[in-house]
Amino acid sequence: MKEIRKINQVVATECAETGEDYLKAMLGDFDSEPGYYKQVIKPMLIAGHENEIVYWLKDLGLIKNEFFCPKAESGTCMKMMSWSQARNNDMYQWKCNGCDGKRSIREDSIFLNVKCSFKNAIRILLGWSKGNDIDSMALMLGIKRPVVSMLYKKAGLVAQKYITYNTSEWAVGGAGKIVLVDSYPEMCLGATETREPKPILCIAEVKSFPQKYWFELLQPYRRTNQEHLQLVKKQILSSVKKIVAPGSILIVPSSSILCTNEDFLELKYLYPLIISTDDLARHDDGNRTIAGILDIIWREAVDICEEAQAYGHELISQYIIGRIWRQRYGSNAFEMLVYQLGL
Ligand SMILES: [Zn+2]
Repeated sequence: MKEIRKINQVVATECAETGEDYLKAMLGDFDSEPGYYKQVIKPMLIAGHENEIVYWLKDLGLIKNEFFCPKAESGTCMKMMSWSQARNNDMYQWKCNGCDGKRSIREDSIFLNVKCSFKNAIRILLGWSKGNDIDSMALMLGIKRPVVSMLYKKAGLVAQKYITYNTSEWAVGGAGKIVLVDSYPEMCLGATETREPKPILCIAEVKSFPQKYWFELLQPYRRTNQEHLQLVKKQILSSVKKIVAPGSILIVPSSSILCTNEDFLELKYLYPLIISTDDLARHDDGNRTIAGILDIIWREAVDICEEAQAYGHELISQYIIGRIWRQRYGSNAFEMLVYQLGL
């Protein structure tokens, strides 16, 4: 009980800079994220530098650089609004020279309706880029969970849009390279049959470092419904075509209701060599078994899929997006996100 009360006290005031010692220490570590964040963002987080953050957001295009009076649409005012100082938390506002109307500088940006300071909003974007969970971010920053969740969602949508238009950046394989394709929970059936698992397509390139993965939420299906299975199979084929470079050697499960050798026959023209895991075992040389290699790669994939199951229907695809974003951009994940948000 004592612990809960302590936490509530902190939540009451935004920004853990004024909170408990352990939260302050947590925030100190968080703000010291090496690289771009430490070099560019950290100096602006010091008290008294708030206006630098606003101008940094403006320069990068995360908030607007110019704003037309909304009344222009109805023809009652044709003026461009001017950037002016204001006595509000954001320190600035848009003010119309014609009709005297005022607007928030958050208009038309991802920060609109996000009820926290810009300082914490940027921290939340870093939290998303690092894969920190929503609750620990809310606790550390002393802000409400829905605030973090809202910005995570907005960041996820921007990342998702980017991935949709630039899927080739996540391509795996190539001539002679080995690529594994399987789906969760099929790949570990028996282990998790308690709830209705949300199915996920997993693609991984063997011998890539860092390990290249692709995860994608599949449409829900019933194992006994042929119509469902056909739709999911179609989705898998189209994703494999998108992600796996032609000429790759595909390794597919020997027993699966979704992606066995037979299911990939129509892609033979792209992947002439498709081998099932059972066939592969025949090539073991005694020193290292292919099952062993597969096991290591899939263990991480299964962990990720298992973790994803904890998220609700809406959040699971966000979780997967975040995962593949970080896997692709690593320590530049935050920088890439900020850049995309500014476009
Ligand atoms: Zn106006």
